[in-house]
Amino acid sequence: MKKQDIIDKFSEFLREVYYKDLASAIVEGKKSLYVDFSLVDKFDPLLADAILEKPEETLSILGESVEQIDLPQKEKVHIRFFNIPETNSIRIRNIRAEHIGKILSVDGIVKRASEVRPEVSEITFECPECGKPITVIQTEKDKTIRSPARCECGCRRGFKQVNQRLYDARWLTIEEPFEITTGERPSEIMVYLKEDLTSPKMRNKTEPGNKIKVTGILKEVPRRTVRGQETRQMEILLDANNIEAVEVEWEELEIDPEDEKKILKLAKDPHIYDKLIASLAPTMYGMDEIKLAIILQLFGGEPKILKDGTRIRGNIHVLLIGDPSAGKSQLMQLTSRLIPRAKYVSGRGVTGAGLTATVVRDEQFLGGWVLEAGALVMSNNSICAIDEFSQVAVQDQVALQEAMSLGTISIAKASIVATLPAQTAILAGGNPKLGRFDPYIPIREQVNINEVLLSRFDLKFALRDVPNPDVDAKMADHILKMRHFEEEEAKPIIEPYLLRKYVAYARSRIRPVMTKRAAIVLRDFYLKMRSKAGGEAPVAITLRQYEALMRLAEASAKIRLSDKIDIEDAERVIKLMKTSLRQFGFDPETGMIDIDRAEGTMTSAQRSKIRIILDVIDELTNIIGKTIPIEEVARRAREEGVDNFDDILRRMLNEGLVFSPKPNFLQKV
Ligand SMILES: [Zn+2]
Repeated sequence: MKKQDIIDKFSEFLREVYYKDLASAIVEGKKSLYVDFSLVDKFDPLLADAILEKPEETLSILGESVEQIDLPQKEKVHIRFFNIPETNSIRIRNIRAEHIGKILSVDGIVKRASEVRPEVSEITFECPECGKPITVIQTEKDKTIRSPARCECGCRRGFKQVNQRLYDARWLTIEEPFEITTGERPSEIMVYLKEDLTSPKMRNKTEPGNKIKVTGILKEVPRRTVRGQETRQMEILLDANNIEAVEVEWEELEIDPEDEKKILKLAKDPHIYDKLIASLAPTMYGMDEIKLAIILQLFGGEPKILKDGTRIRGNIHVLLIGDPSAGKSQLMQLTSRLIPRAKYVSGRGVTGAGLTATVVRDEQFLGGWVLEAGALVMSNNSICAIDEFSQVAVQDQVALQEAMSLGTISIAKASIVATLPAQTAILAGGNPKLGRFDPYIPIREQVNINEVLLSRFDLKFALRDVPNPDVDAKMADHILKMRHFEEEEAKPIIEPYLLRKYVAYARSRIRPVMTKRAAIVLRDFYLKMRSKAGGEAPVAITLRQYEALMRLAEASAKIRLSDKIDIEDAERVIKLMKTSLRQFGFDPETGMIDIDRAEGTMTSAQRSKIRIILDVIDELTNIIGKTIPIEEVARRAREEGVDNFDDILRRMLNEGLVFSPKPNFLQKV
């Protein structure tokens, strides 16, 4: 098709199919008309082919088609396409040099975004051999003009400058949305935005953390060295024609009627909770409560906005503190592979900026500043597993607070001010400071996590590697069975692909409401715990746990695909909450749940008798060595005010805190 034919034909198309939209766009002062490409194809397949074949030439002349139409005002309007054919839709990782010059449609999550740069220059050249126009985005600060490296026809020199234009421009880096394969660096590509694609409204859509669909032409641009020097290397980028906001990719998981049948059947199964637990990390024995907590985290609660505007998060945060060999990291990694957008990072290798967001100088492309999203933003609407959480520097932990309570990350640095989405459920894992977990020392002393942050976790668990002949034997059998004998047993009851779809199904469709009877159960539990507070007793439970209970109950109802939160949900999460409180806050001295301890504050019972005895043993170990006479420990403990030494020692032996290598002697574990 000749150039003029394309202009005329497209004009005819607009007049017939888009006249009303075009007229109102112009009256409303809009700069762009969004055109469904499939309608162009229906109108005239040859026209559609012509646009797809030579987008560089055709997209730039489509504006002239608008000028041919009789409209209320004469305005320049950009034609932006959506719904381009499947054949031009491609995954980032599959983009190759052969696609240069083609129109492509690509999905990705924005990872980096530059500020909007005014007066970015684009120079159009003409090939001396074939006459093809080639536009080169000028990335140099020093204004030396860059010509095209080559033309499609093979010509490499003699390009004539025909046109120069200045734009408001911005670049993004988008990342492949769903990495099924792990360990692989996510594929990324640069996207170049100009004109009204950089408007404030579009800017919000294209901030890091958002998922977008980009339609544009794949182009080469000269790569700049750090010092802005000339290189022969070329960088590829997508010169955007259109950007569409895409909701989270949960719905990208196609759930066909067959899947739906399976999901509905699972949801009705009376053993569904056990089945889900058994399907999460099936090779790992036990840890049922922790696994249930993670399952609830996957399904998630519902965010709420109260009448006064207070926002209550729906994300469930879980903390696992455990002995190094307890399998925590493995569990966290497996979890992060289960659902879309989930991330696994280690606190040892990640900075606060790598977790939240950072602003850096753009040495790569247009100059100025770039906003880069960290793991929490990239896992918006999903889960972020942060291993070695206590290794995250204390000042960086502060940066996590906003994300954990509000679901956003605000950043203001240089010329960039932005609020990024981070509605991310956090699964954090850490080792106790002292190496092994000690249930008789307040967490504050064992974990390097600041108190405010600690209180943001809905559930906290201790994974203890305590020798227990009964459990050890079962675990050994389990491992043997998994690895050597009944291989089919190692398969999860619910396959990961189905579990993923199940979670997606529940998250997108189910919004459970609290029933009165369940509310009463939750309230009674809360009030009962509260009533233990007052006087000398430590505070039992705070409103924060009450909110956590509701979130957890919502998630529990979602698993049954129930639109009602019922008594069974309330009871399930109360049991879980009790386990969590007990593991982290139960005060063995008073027999009460001590929320201050669970949340890290020092308490009256802090220097418990057990602690005193442990200190005495430590002291004696330093003086006389590993094996210590019980008599000596008893004498010193009594001096420190421990009156019921024998009872307490028996408990310590039972708990595995100390052991007796030979009669009348003690040794620390
Ligand atoms: Zn040429």
